[in-house]
Amino acid sequence: AQGNVDKWVKGACRFCGTGCGVYVGVKNGKAVAIKGNPDAKTNFGFLCVKGFLAYKVMYHPDRLKYPMIRQKNGNFEKVSWDKALDYVADKFKYLQNKYGKDAVAYYGSGQCTTEESYTFNKLWKGGFRSNMVEGNPRLCMASAVGGYVSTFGSDEPVGSYADIEKSKCIFLVGSNTSECHPIIFRRVMRHKLNNPDVKIIVCEPRKTNTAKIADLWLPVDPGTDLAVFHSMAREIIKNNWYNEDFVKNNARITDGKNTYDFKKYADFVDQFTPEKVEKLTRCPAEDIRKAAEWFANSGATYTMWTMGLNQRTRGVWANNLMHNLHLLTGNIAKPGADPFSLTGQPNACGGVRETGSLCHLLPGTKPVASDMWRSYVEKAWKIPEGTIDPKPGFHTIKMFDNLGGENNPDKPIKGMLTSTTNPAQSLPNLNKYLKGMKDSFLVVLDIFPTRTTQLADVVLPAAFIYEKGGVYGCSERRSQLTEKCVNPPGEAKPDVWIAAQLAKRMGLERLIPWNDDDSMAANEKAWTEYITVTKDTDHTLWGAKYDRLKKEPAGLQWPCPSIDHPGTYKRYVRGMDPMFNHEGFKKLFNKDIPSDEKIFFYMDKKGEGKANIFLRPYAGPAETPSAAYPFYLTTGRVIEQWHTGTMTMRVPELARAHPNAYVEIHPDDAKKYNITSGDMIKITSRRGTSILPAVIVENSMPGILFVPWFDQRISEMINFVCNDAVDKGSKEPEFKIAAVKIERI
Ligand code: SF4
Repeated sequence: AQGNVDKWVKGACRFCGTGCGVYVGVKNGKAVAIKGNPDAKTNFGFLCVKGFLAYKVMYHPDRLKYPMIRQKNGNFEKVSWDKALDYVADKFKYLQNKYGKDAVAYYGSGQCTTEESYTFNKLWKGGFRSNMVEGNPRLCMASAVGGYVSTFGSDEPVGSYADIEKSKCIFLVGSNTSECHPIIFRRVMRHKLNNPDVKIIVCEPRKTNTAKIADLWLPVDPGTDLAVFHSMAREIIKNNWYNEDFVKNNARITDGKNTYDFKKYADFVDQFTPEKVEKLTRCPAEDIRKAAEWFANSGATYTMWTMGLNQRTRGVWANNLMHNLHLLTGNIAKPGADPFSLTGQPNACGGVRETGSLCHLLPGTKPVASDMWRSYVEKAWKIPEGTIDPKPGFHTIKMFDNLGGENNPDKPIKGMLTSTTNPAQSLPNLNKYLKGMKDSFLVVLDIFPTRTTQLADVVLPAAFIYEKGGVYGCSERRSQLTEKCVNPPGEAKPDVWIAAQLAKRMGLERLIPWNDDDSMAANEKAWTEYITVTKDTDHTLWGAKYDRLKKEPAGLQWPCPSIDHPGTYKRYVRGMDPMFNHEGFKKLFNKDIPSDEKIFFYMDKKGEGKANIFLRPYAGPAETPSAAYPFYLTTGRVIEQWHTGTMTMRVPELARAHPNAYVEIHPDDAKKYNITSGDMIKITSRRGTSILPAVIVENSMPGILFVPWFDQRISEMINFVCNDAVDKGSKEPEFKIAAVKIERI
């Protein structure tokens, strides 16, 4: 396609959190190809199959092209935008007047642009005075946020992807990187091929394609890895492999309430002998010892993790324990060494986390409960002091649990607007939440019909990223601008326009003045306000003006406080992190960084510049196998499919490559149940059932089943089976672990 297009337009991939830079090829006003951007520092020109084929999503005949309102007979009727928006605004006003300001919720996505998340968040919190704002990153990254904030005082990683090529040991935990972040995996493989001495350790229940290239695979029963991490810490201390100076200068031992001396921590982890931990986790004791040695002594260890650590009832603790290992060994704040959480979605970090589009946050990831920060944001938004509610709204699971119709007095949320997400397929324990979506006033913005649009009262056709443009911020604090490439089909519109029109109809036009028909003009106004509001924070992107983002080949990493700043590769290190001598930041947060400190975790709540090494007791998952439910079920992605398959199942090549879900069963278990590959298996948990074909494969240990979760067919939707128990801190559900039974049918 190289020579056969009218122009190549710079942007970012709209799938995973890697943030690959792309060029979209446009011919005769139509996107006809996508190629990797060789200057992008995330992917250096490489793309995976989803990124290459993303343009095909735009031209599928199922695209939603007109607003639709459900009629009394249950059918949708095509209506004008004016009619649809008037109807939604009137109904929202009615519900808010009758049931209170929190009666209508917003549920967004890590696939919305930063401008979109910022705009809806402002409309709800500053306009409706309601914190009923959530997004699907609660389902994937909340535990990583909880881990970063509790350990370092601030969300998001210390380092960058550039550490991959500088590392001597790579520890991949709870991450099938090869399928979920393929271009990151490519970098890992290339590094290993070029440097055979680099050690790769993979810790997770399945021997995935990721684990297959590892020097050491640490198999564990789902949800038991906290014991493995503590055991590694024990071995590191016992063998004197820890970095005493780093711990003394840069960390404190705490249980979250009190601080302790190092001996207390050493005594605490001493109970986790590798032999005892082997019995608990099925991870071989010798392998735990070896992993500890490699981790501590490599010279530069880089850890990456994703949903395997996050989607757990002890997700925050699991994140804390990863940070513990890095702090204990000083494998942090130096080249090639960092604990790094890989983000699932393209804009969970930049869009939802950084703009504070969750029920407990404000822009800059600052807590809504903070008097100082509410007051700051109110001034920036030019709204009266006291407008923003200090009380957080409901987290995602609680929000859907409280969603219901006007006939249900027990459910205080009566209406919801969702964008770019498909909760009627993606929530865990679906049986519990579908009725609330059906009974309430549900407005859905999307590009295709989904399980959620089937329950909607109003469907608003949305523009695809390449039809509107906007900023995505990936896992490594990097924000990249995608320019508008082509026009949306039919009457589909960008979310920012829809939000602005809604605001106008609800008397809040002043709050969202970017109602331009030109989507890039509206985006730029929203972005400029967002970077102004967060200007002096540790997350500052003040130097990433739109004009500059258009020119930068690879976006910019925050903190980026001025237009001449190149963006930050490593935080908390003098000479690398611009917040060390940033006057505005110092004044806003009253943070003083002593001039002799080389490494200083300046968001430390105690003001000592230290990170927390946590004493966390061992705790397993919410459900473990029993006589009635003898198997662990774990779920995940496959390389060709994205989340609920809404887009990827409409790309013929991707649909053909991976057309349906299945259940992976170990040969020993298959023999016991007389199952052969292809047999249909009923999987049942305490919550629901799914029926899938069996694939007999030795990927996991006996007793562990795996199902990919993209299949949209009702009987194959595994989320009916998944557990909705949440982590106490992050409120992220335990998608990854359920106890189930199986039956051949
Ligand atoms: Fe897109 Fe992720 Fe593939 Fe890169 S690795 S092309 S961001 S899906």
